Amino acid sequence: MFEIVFLGTSAAAPSIRRNLSAHVVLHKEYRFLVDCGEGTQRQLLKSGLGFKRLNKVLLTHSHLDHILGLGGLLSTFMRWETIEEVEIFGGRSTLSFVDVKPGRLMEDDSFELIAFPVTHRGGECFGYLFREKPRRPFLVDKAEALGVPPGPERRRLVAGESVTLSDGRTIHPDEVLGPEIRGAALAHVGDTGRTSDLIEHVRGADALVIESTYLDAEADLARSYDHLTAAQAARLARDAQVGQLILTHISRRYGQKQVLAEAQAIFPNTAVARDFDRFRVLKDKSTLLENLTVEEENWHVAA
Ligand SMILES: [Zn+2]
Ligand SMILES: [Zn+2]
Repeated sequence: MFEIVFLGTSAAAPSIRRNLSAHVVLHKEYRFLVDCGEGTQRQLLKSGLGFKRLNKVLLTHSHLDHILGLGGLLSTFMRWETIEEVEIFGGRSTLSFVDVKPGRLMEDDSFELIAFPVTHRGGECFGYLFREKPRRPFLVDKAEALGVPPGPERRRLVAGESVTLSDGRTIHPDEVLGPEIRGAALAHVGDTGRTSDLIEHVRGADALVIESTYLDAEADLARSYDHLTAAQAARLARDAQVGQLILTHISRRYGQKQVLAEAQAIFPNTAVARDFDRFRVLKDKSTLLENLTVEEENWHVAA
């Protein structure tokens, strides 16, 4: 299970309702900050997430609307006693901290984080795939029938090792493990001008988060600035058979409803993220849980 909280959903410049790109992905004890636009610190505080355990930063690319908040955030971290080390992942030209290459960035026994290349102005751009590893369920009935006692033998079989029982018989994992079951997957793509090279990387993801800066009426502008239209993002979601499409990086020139309508005509299970929206991504089910802001009503008054 993954959760993603949108801290900033605006393209290029902030609006009253939308801050610049930043997202927090939560999985088990991990918290990943994906991009860090200007003003992200206050968005973190407003969301209630705060800075706790936020020690992994993933950057999609080096454009200023995605990274300008990083200096301030690191300055806060330097004074923040509970965060001793921050890992920053990005392309070489994005920042000279850690040079990301496509492939697996980290893993544990049940989770992996994969970076894949994305085509956008300036190069060295990455998308990120958060994926639970597939697992094979332990078939208790079969183990009982074969006389495998509860305890270390079963744990070793689950870990993929063969075991020899006290009566001399050898039991192999295939005899007690069911067919592989895939886990949940969340694909995150920042700015991009192309979708053809993304299909295989995001295929089958339960949720795809991707930019949608333009509408099809301005497809020529999208092309010249290396961005997507809502329709292009929706066609990618359809062709890659993802579960839910979540659009972000929304331009101030459009209303949320226009963006949603254009995408839903092609891929019905589309949402347009608002700042502070929190989504939960399970295998075969991605849903909007809530909006974390407590001040939204006041914003209406201010607007
Ligand atoms: Zn951008
Ligand atoms: Zn960009």
